[in-house]
Amino acid sequence: MTQPQTLPPVAAEARALLCSLLYEHVETVEYIVDKDEPWTEEQCGVIRSAIEDLGLVIRQMVTEHGNTQRGDNCSTCAVPWPCATLASLYRMLTDRQLGFVRLLEENATPPKRT
Ligand SMILES: [Zn+2]
Repeated sequence: MTQPQTLPPVAAEARALLCSLLYEHVETVEYIVDKDEPWTEEQCGVIRSAIEDLGLVIRQMVTEHGNTQRGDNCSTCAVPWPCATLASLYRMLTDRQLGFVRLLEENATPPKRT
């Protein structure tokens, strides 16, 4: 039986700092969104930009965890496709309780002509 590998302390600390930095970015946007007051025009612009950037992040994750270049394995994880990362993205983006599906459904109907 093999022992689980543990990270050296410096690697564990670096990993914790990296995760903390990433969460800080997301939490800053969430803080603005969750404020119980109308958004300023500047905040609307920041949030609009953050949503566009979120789309870029998701596209990049799908590209990096696709399998078009190397056959049946994820091109990043080198495990049978879909890898855990792509499967997780799929679950989150298609979860009816989350905003992505609602936004998609609300925009599936063509706008009414006036
Ligand atoms: Zn992957």
